[in-house]
Amino acid sequence: MNFESFSFDRRIAAGIKSCGYATPTPIQSRAIPAVLQGRDVMGLAQTGTGKTAAFVLPILQRLLNAKAPGQGPIRALVLAPTRELALQTHENFISLGRETGIRSAAVFGGVGFNPQIKAVRRSTVIVACPGRLIDLLNQGVIELGHVETLVLDEADRMMDMGFLPDLKRIMSRLPARRQNLLFSATMPPDIRRLADNILVDPETVQVANTAPPESVSHVFYPVRQHLKTGLLEALLDSTRYESVLIFTRTKHRAKSLAQKLSRNRLNATFLQGNMTQNQRQRALDGFRRGAFNIMVATDIAARGIDCDRISHVINFDAPDSAETYTHRIGRTGRAGRSGRALSLVTQDDQGLMRDIERIVHKRIDHCKVEGFDYNQPFKQQPAENRVRAQGRRKSARPGRGRF
Ligand code: AMP
Repeated sequence: MNFESFSFDRRIAAGIKSCGYATPTPIQSRAIPAVLQGRDVMGLAQTGTGKTAAFVLPILQRLLNAKAPGQGPIRALVLAPTRELALQTHENFISLGRETGIRSAAVFGGVGFNPQIKAVRRSTVIVACPGRLIDLLNQGVIELGHVETLVLDEADRMMDMGFLPDLKRIMSRLPARRQNLLFSATMPPDIRRLADNILVDPETVQVANTAPPESVSHVFYPVRQHLKTGLLEALLDSTRYESVLIFTRTKHRAKSLAQKLSRNRLNATFLQGNMTQNQRQRALDGFRRGAFNIMVATDIAARGIDCDRISHVINFDAPDSAETYTHRIGRTGRAGRSGRALSLVTQDDQGLMRDIERIVHKRIDHCKVEGFDYNQPFKQQPAENRVRAQGRRKSARPGRGRF
């Protein structure tokens, strides 16, 4: 299949060409015809599958079919969990739609209201994080009564982040008759309920939503909790990488780990929820350009990272589920390049390791970093860290096997 088979307007075809897309990805092949027909779609696909263009392109086409497509009112609304994702999707509308004259605005918190309000007034497409959109609705500066297409992107994350009440409030302001597109990497019961509530006779499009890309190889590095930082450093030392994305469970650890690596002369930065928009942008741009080749991030902060040069994903802390694992490692091995997923695992992660092996359909090798001293004793930590460590020990399950 090629893009010509969708008979896109020549202005959209020009956008596709300038983005360098030659053939549609599987999710695009299957979702685009349904969206073009005006159908509701349930898309089960993770980041990296080309899911954004799967809705951006047909939405642009449907907007172009109208009389004065370039001007307001708002006719397409995309809701996204994070600013990074909102910005990226907005940029997709801009780049794929550059010849169409259709304007898009991104709406997210942490920055001033006025420029966004101005942009919203000129735009036909809005890509928004729910919180800021509600602020604008409350201020009466945004009108959603003409929305024809609603996209809920990364709906599972929006649920995880507690956005359901916001989503309901936003949807109550939309016309009842509209097209709904729901994209999610996973299908937990709350997403199933949401889909049942809002989608009418949907076309369900699923692309390998659980299995990670074949182009990624997996390794477990068993280690005791207190040796993780040392092992990570040894691992980075002995690995040839282009760019590495490292995941931690907490914001605090993302920052302290990046700072520790930087002190050891590694080009590391971090991304976590407490940063200002400027700080995030600087970190993201630096990582994308290669000024930093190590990024330490939490799951939520990492949602918007779109960087083709990530050769390795390292799970410093194990993910909370096999789905999250798939999501994390979807950041490497993109566009057919090979990637590696390295996970530091402790004895508490045994159940999860089995789940991950089930999802990748193979046994994952347990490896050691040569030359690393796995027998180092636990050293007493400074008082401030001790409280945190005690909390962790309490929740740890009693030992099975030795790591
Ligand atoms: P997404 O899953 O939407 O985050 O897209 C992942 C990456 O794939 C982005 O960098 C897109 O620009 C790129 N992409 C999307 N569609 C195509 C395509 N048909 N051919 C090549 N690259 C694509």
